[in-house]
Amino acid sequence: MASSQTRAPASALADRLVGRLFRYLAVTSQSDAGATMVPSTPGQWDMARLLQRELEELGLSDIHLDDHAVLTARLPGTIEGAPRIGFCAHVDTVDVGLSPHIHPRLVAFDGADLCLNPERMIWMRVAEHPELLPYVGQTLVVTDGTSVLGADDKAAVSVVMTLLETLVRERPAHGDVLVAFVPDEEIGLRGAKAMDLARFPAEFAYTIDCCALGEFVAETFNAAQATITVTGVTAHPMSAKGVLVNPILVAADLIARFDPLDTPEHTDGRQGYCWCNGLTANALTATLSVSIRDFDPQGFAERKARLEAMVALTASAHPRAAISVRIDDVYANVANGLVHDHRSVALMRAAYEAEGIVPNVIAMRGGTDGSALSARGIPTPNLFTGALNFHSEFEFLPVPSFVRSYEVAARIVALGAGQGPGDAASRR
Ligand SMILES: [Zn+2]
Repeated sequence: MASSQTRAPASALADRLVGRLFRYLAVTSQSDAGATMVPSTPGQWDMARLLQRELEELGLSDIHLDDHAVLTARLPGTIEGAPRIGFCAHVDTVDVGLSPHIHPRLVAFDGADLCLNPERMIWMRVAEHPELLPYVGQTLVVTDGTSVLGADDKAAVSVVMTLLETLVRERPAHGDVLVAFVPDEEIGLRGAKAMDLARFPAEFAYTIDCCALGEFVAETFNAAQATITVTGVTAHPMSAKGVLVNPILVAADLIARFDPLDTPEHTDGRQGYCWCNGLTANALTATLSVSIRDFDPQGFAERKARLEAMVALTASAHPRAAISVRIDDVYANVANGLVHDHRSVALMRAAYEAEGIVPNVIAMRGGTDGSALSARGIPTPNLFTGALNFHSEFEFLPVPSFVRSYEVAARIVALGAGQGPGDAASRR
């Protein structure tokens, strides 16, 4: 029933975008959460060096590849006085246990089930994936069913590089455009956190790291990671009475104090949660990991305080155990950084409008490099790549949406050229 044919995209722009994307997907660059270095894998160096060469060929200024494989560059403006706009994209692809090697393919989707991999009989059936239905009649980039597609975030890398190429070739009116390609977004935004912001002097910036055409993200979670360590007392069981303190039972007591409905599987929209997602233990110690997520800064602070109170209660119930808690902020809500400078969001809204795209405003239940950049003083909302089913072998990218992503980015730069640095109306 797979009548869909392999087919090339229609326009020259689509050809350029898809050609680039396939070139970047051929570089294996999964990140590795278990590694302690940034970048976490050598493949991300390969991506960074490839992009560095391409930026050099385009003749960009201030090209710099740092010790963490963070690549930054500047395209000098053709006019004075426009805001310095940045674009940030990540070069890693996510490791969700699938193959690190990506074999993308173009298919003309006619509404019939898609056979992603005839050898292994991996199908993407419309009944199981109704998210395909709006794209009947379009050319899609799909996987071979053994890996993610990696449009997250190489579609963004392709959009930014293609945009730079256009700006260099055609020299329209624009201000300085800053670019940053960073590693290890998928494992805690490590690249954006490691970036030397002196190399990325954007007044505001954009990530292109959400999904379907129209998605508009100016709000992400505030995120923290808590680590609770329980140290008990070991003893031989034959003489354990009154002596042994079992850290596993103490940890279980703490876990029982969490609200069972305040979890990822019971919340959505703008609700936060606590997620117990790691427990290692032996006879002497137990270590519990908890992810804390909340959109609201006050709610976020209250969650942390509640966790500390639960730990204190558990400690008082087990006076012979030693319990410590450490809470580290991981990233911040992009919106926190947008309060004082609305220009990035106003320009993004204007670009969607000029392109005839209705913004689908989403409070993103995750973080982006923009969460790290916004927390560091560069307001950075997030626009769509056009791809769906991120982090899955069923990730796919409708080519027309990919083109629209490019067009919005190009429009942001074009509209930015019309804005003086003191454009009070949009800075409100
Ligand atoms: Zn991403």
